Amino acid sequence: MKSRHIIIAAACSLTLACLLAVSGCSRKNPSGGPAITRDAAIERKVDSVLKKLTLEQKAGQMMQMTTSTITKWTEQGLVLDPDKLQTVIGKYKVGSILNTFGDVATPAAYTAMMVSQIQQKSLEEIGVPCIFGLDMIHGASYLTDGTFFPQEINLAATFNREYARAMGEAMAYETRAAMVPWVFSPVMDLGRNAVWPRQWESFGEDPFLNAEMATVETKALQGDDPNHIDLEHVAVSIKHYMAYGVPVSGKDRTPAIVPYNELREKYFRPFKECLQAGALTIMVNSASINGIPTHANGELLNGWVKEQLGWDGLIVTDWADIDNLYMRDHVAKDVKEALALGINAGIDMVMDPNDPANCEQLVAAVKEGLIPMSRVDDAVRRVLRLKFRLGLFEKPLWDVSGYDRFACEEFQQASYAAAVESEVLLKNEDNILPLEYGTRILVTGPNGNSMRTLNGGWSYTWQGDADRFAGDHNTIFEALAEKFGEGNVTYEPGVTYDERDRWSPGAWQKENEPQIARAVAAAFRANVIVACIGENSYCETPGNIDDLNLSKNQKDLVEALAKTGKPIILVLNEGRPRIIREIEPLAKAVIDVMLPGNRGGDALAALMCGEENFSGKLPFTYPKYVNSLHTYDYKVSEHRETMAGEYNYDAVMDVQWPFGAGLSYTEFGYSDFKCLVDTAFTADDVLEFEVTVTNKGMHAGKESVLLFSSDLVASLIPDVRRLRGFEKIELAAGESKTVSFKIPAYELAFVGADGKWRLEEGDFRMSCGGESLKLFCKETKVWDRPNID
Ligand code: BGC
Repeated sequence: MKSRHIIIAAACSLTLACLLAVSGCSRKNPSGGPAITRDAAIERKVDSVLKKLTLEQKAGQMMQMTTSTITKWTEQGLVLDPDKLQTVIGKYKVGSILNTFGDVATPAAYTAMMVSQIQQKSLEEIGVPCIFGLDMIHGASYLTDGTFFPQEINLAATFNREYARAMGEAMAYETRAAMVPWVFSPVMDLGRNAVWPRQWESFGEDPFLNAEMATVETKALQGDDPNHIDLEHVAVSIKHYMAYGVPVSGKDRTPAIVPYNELREKYFRPFKECLQAGALTIMVNSASINGIPTHANGELLNGWVKEQLGWDGLIVTDWADIDNLYMRDHVAKDVKEALALGINAGIDMVMDPNDPANCEQLVAAVKEGLIPMSRVDDAVRRVLRLKFRLGLFEKPLWDVSGYDRFACEEFQQASYAAAVESEVLLKNEDNILPLEYGTRILVTGPNGNSMRTLNGGWSYTWQGDADRFAGDHNTIFEALAEKFGEGNVTYEPGVTYDERDRWSPGAWQKENEPQIARAVAAAFRANVIVACIGENSYCETPGNIDDLNLSKNQKDLVEALAKTGKPIILVLNEGRPRIIREIEPLAKAVIDVMLPGNRGGDALAALMCGEENFSGKLPFTYPKYVNSLHTYDYKVSEHRETMAGEYNYDAVMDVQWPFGAGLSYTEFGYSDFKCLVDTAFTADDVLEFEVTVTNKGMHAGKESVLLFSSDLVASLIPDVRRLRGFEKIELAAGESKTVSFKIPAYELAFVGADGKWRLEEGDFRMSCGGESLKLFCKETKVWDRPNID
């Protein structure tokens, strides 16, 4: 047996990937100083432009409008409307535009042509370049010819930072090739409420995983120098600041109730890490936390981000959220008061997005003394600084003809490889997988022949109409037919999504019966049934549901198929974990592909025939019951079996699959888990661990090695465990590797009830792949600063 010792820390100087591989060392700015060191030359230029702007022009710089306010449909298609353009840019001097043209993705060349015309008008009318922003969420997902990656939830399932880097790089390059310098990405709302319709947009439920992946993606999108973004990189807008993913109701844009200490310890973390890594802009949570609309929360916007981190970037609202302050939340009586509330709390740019006349309201609010001029100047400075940092003053337009790597093989390959590593094998009874070539397969279920469901929302259109555009790519059925032979693979949908209600099928039992009968008849001719079930694409409020259970008609389909006695493989293609407790026992195998993108069907086919091996792990807890929605870092009392074995209340935490679940065609063994430094530590120490991982099976495979900590006694009820490190390794059959983790001891601190970070004296347990060891913290340390670093 070969044994290779990889000391990740020692390899650090070699590559960015290695640097980031020092788990737990992602604190970016140990000095606690400003997140981005200012460029004095840029600051001088900002001042000189600012001085020349009138109040009206400043108000325009603080506004962002959507493309429909400046376009019209003609026989030639969608064009810029000179009259509308004159109003928005000529009259109101609006400084930023967002969105696709015609609510749908367009080719990069067309997008570039439209953005160029807007830019020319801005330069003529204002003399300040416009900044154009797009929702590129999983690759260049708003360009018809761009490269699509799996959604972020899938990237998280790879537990491989390399794919966050690859996606960020490709996304930045292709976005720039469309003359667009700003993306509203990455999303780092912790997806901790399984019902929430945007869970899949994030890197899952864990703060550390989110922080690591989002930081890598941010750096890949922006490049190395946030003061001087080059023509292959773009500015990010990290979103949605913060706790957007835990609405009490599970519905989008509805109130969250989160204890202050959890906000600081968990929800703030990915944002802070990205800001310290240079993220240039933030988009705000559309909803509210503890009764305060986030857009009006001065403590979180001005306080935590601008003052405490010394961050000089730009905060943009989400869609129409100033309006929401008075129309929805009733914390202001009119738009003027709402503008004042938001802008005084720290908003710098208002995504209005439909009414440029609100510029007048902003001017009026300033004249009436509702918003101090100093706040306006600070906001406009931040807008101008961003435009300078992006090089828009020097190069408002650039040559887009030379982007030769656009949609290149390397980007496509990275998207495919990310999909392969993201699809999670959750059950494989009797090793039914991999299937032999030539197996006769019935593909069934509403997701079996759909590009739309593979991609999810924010794909070509807001709700993800991928079937209109992604014809060149393979659905699951097409990919399986290619792999197993066309004559061997048939498709019978069994049930379909009804376009009257695309998001919660289930009401059309009658219509579905004959289709189910056809699928059952086809099943008798097959060796194996691949039932592709889950959800249609959705996002935001159209994705709201009242019941997390998988729709009844899909369960009926699986139950009817099970009666044939043919083995069933369930393929879950869904943006959030729909409950499948009743039908899971009917399946021999279960694969959760989540939303793997345009290459997801190909990846699945290669995995199912064994050309590729599974290595994805769930980045969230897969619930079993609607009333038991937990996260992996639950409190001891939520579970009947506590760590100490003392609790045995009736509150059972029984999940379908836990965070980190995921099988492989091979088997990994863990041994020799040890702490390389003194196990009695203080906050100033760096903890070092290593563990040996052995591939005990017959196939090569990749393994995500996850390191957890448990605080065994603390003054606030401790989480059962917390992820502190992860590394993805590859092992040949029979091979062993030793994986090292270096973790600053302060990473084990938590935020107490008084809002202060504390590391308390007492026992800790570290665990890794079933192995565990004990540590002892010798002295309690409490930090007076709001952030540890
Ligand atoms: C979404 C954001 C998005 C924005 C601009 C909003 O409705 O919540 O995520 O960036 O629209 O399209």
